[in-house]
Amino acid sequence: MENKTNGIIAKYVFGVDIGGTTVKIGLLDLDGHKIEVWEIPTRTENGGEKILPDIAESIRFKMEERGIKDSQVVGVGAGAPGPFSDDGTILKAVNLGWSEFNLKNELHDLVKIPVKCGNDANVAALGECWKGGGQGYKDILMVTLGTGVGGGIIHEGKIFNGANGAGGEIGHIHIEDNETVECNCGNKGCLEQYASATGAVLLMKRILEKSDEESVLRGTQFECKDIFDAAANGDKLAIEATKQYGDYLGKGLAMIASTINPEIIVFGGGVSKAGDVLFDLIRPSFEKYVFHGAKRTKFALAKLGNDAGIYGAAKLVLDTVS
Ligand SMILES: [Zn+2]
Repeated sequence: MENKTNGIIAKYVFGVDIGGTTVKIGLLDLDGHKIEVWEIPTRTENGGEKILPDIAESIRFKMEERGIKDSQVVGVGAGAPGPFSDDGTILKAVNLGWSEFNLKNELHDLVKIPVKCGNDANVAALGECWKGGGQGYKDILMVTLGTGVGGGIIHEGKIFNGANGAGGEIGHIHIEDNETVECNCGNKGCLEQYASATGAVLLMKRILEKSDEESVLRGTQFECKDIFDAAANGDKLAIEATKQYGDYLGKGLAMIASTINPEIIVFGGGVSKAGDVLFDLIRPSFEKYVFHGAKRTKFALAKLGNDAGIYGAAKLVLDTVS
């Protein structure tokens, strides 16, 4: 049984987003319409040896269930958290238990369908460029503001991978000379130390320590969202923290925009839920520090949420295999 629409045999692509706890798999048509999305657990034990066989099995099972033949599948795209070289070798993925190996070849051997793969943040940026907040643009910078600060650069519609797959690692741009605490990367004063959700909490804590003024957050266990909420309610110290947050992020983005001159910066991750408030905080320092030629860079919110990875992975395949 073949899937046919008006006598034309349907074609498909799979997009796979490999995360530390779950693997998200999407079945899409070639226009990027989502047909089905499901998740399987990421089995990280024994060096993550079961992760790829599980993915391959799940894809083959889905094909059988839907009566999809190999000839109807253009390929499988996969994003994973680690730097990739151009030949599909993932250099290291601590969260998955993986050390260096060629993901593209191994997954291809298992699933018997063409495979393309890349770094998850870069792949998500490609997804947002194709079907999300960056749709209609070819040069975008995607910034993910979560526990850390992630990024992805799309240039002329393609992922900018860099020589060692570290292209778009914007979280570790040096932004503050006077930092004494180390970043996860071992350096001091990285953008991620201030512009992540964790960073906002650090800024607020430092302000509370330095000041005797009242704040609704004083003596409480607060998160990033609480700081933005308190600022919206007029809390003076929280306003100061969000202002510092915006200054650091605006400065970091100005450096990147002055280098790559994107048409648009697309913001994703938990902190981006602040929306226009966030843009109002970033704009002043962005415009202060950016090269005048990049001043018109647009800001937009990401639209695909956790699905960005599967869209981007599917697009990766469509760009290279078909
Ligand atoms: Zn760092």
